[in-house]
Amino acid sequence: MHVGAVPLGSSAPVAIQSMTKVPTTDIDRCVGQIEELVRAGCGIVRLAVPRRADTEAFARIVPQVRIPLVADIHFSSERAIEAIEGGAAKIRLNPGNIRSRDDIHHIIDAARAHKVAIRVGVNEASIRDLKQEPIPPQERVDLMLAEMTQYVRLFEDRGFDQLVLSAKTSDTLRTIEINRRIAEAFRYPLHLGLTHAGLPEHARIPSAIALGTLLAEGIGDTIRVSAAGDPVIETGMAGEILTSLGLRERRGPELIVCPTCGRTEIDVIELARKVEQAVRSLGKPLRIAVMGCVVNGPGEAADADFAICAAKDKAYFYRDGKRTATVPESEIIPRLLEALDEL
Ligand code: SF4
Repeated sequence: MHVGAVPLGSSAPVAIQSMTKVPTTDIDRCVGQIEELVRAGCGIVRLAVPRRADTEAFARIVPQVRIPLVADIHFSSERAIEAIEGGAAKIRLNPGNIRSRDDIHHIIDAARAHKVAIRVGVNEASIRDLKQEPIPPQERVDLMLAEMTQYVRLFEDRGFDQLVLSAKTSDTLRTIEINRRIAEAFRYPLHLGLTHAGLPEHARIPSAIALGTLLAEGIGDTIRVSAAGDPVIETGMAGEILTSLGLRERRGPELIVCPTCGRTEIDVIELARKVEQAVRSLGKPLRIAVMGCVVNGPGEAADADFAICAAKDKAYFYRDGKRTATVPESEIIPRLLEALDEL
């Protein structure tokens, strides 16, 4: 299937998603943020459309950007239909939040008429709200799967199959389990994410574990790393997960830095930061290693395109595992840039 021009499912590359985090009615800032996300590698962006003014703004944003937009719907079938008519490539819907079955049928019919995909979401919090009583953690995955099954049937009974499924929890292990179960039960593309994952520094590891585990098993077609703050940071983290798994080519240089130890004779961390700054804008997927000594450094850096092995007041440069120069500490960065230029 496709979401706008982005292919999803089977052998298509895993797409990165994020959300705008400015009011949708602030059209210029929204368009600006979407452009930043595109530059960071995001393929699909979702926008909140809680009011009529938001769906009107959404329709004006669609022609100004070059990637498919998703309208995030909660509670209102009117907003869903306005967003579909306003050019959404996909809407995200939790059918449990929509008033009546008739309303859901109207949304499905509008989506079919406009060739718009629907992401059907269930999440652990709404299961808890529906039951209005505490549910033991071990039962929640079963209940989420049962709810997802019921929703999918609702769409299939109406003859609609342009579905993307997503099940969200803020728990790492339950995220893995529910998505494994959904992948087993259904043939639709899956959107993966760990919800309410926290500040970027807290979201990074749980998201990498949950999404990385599933992606390594071949589960997942789109991903979002949810983190409080700048969505470009979310996109960067999602990109890191994909490149770590070999599912996306690295866009810029990869910096390998040794952890340092008692053998280190210069400030390797400061040197690594300077190297990172110097090479950040290079558009090539080079591996550059910054190592703290010449004892283990060359061996550990052998897989890098370029390596700097520090010694007292100087560094040795290596290219493809062979030493090419001895450089005084003060000249490391300019000489590195010259060497990379030649590369
Ligand atoms: S490369 Fe050298 S300085 Fe760095 S951790 Fe290994 S042994 Fe220590």
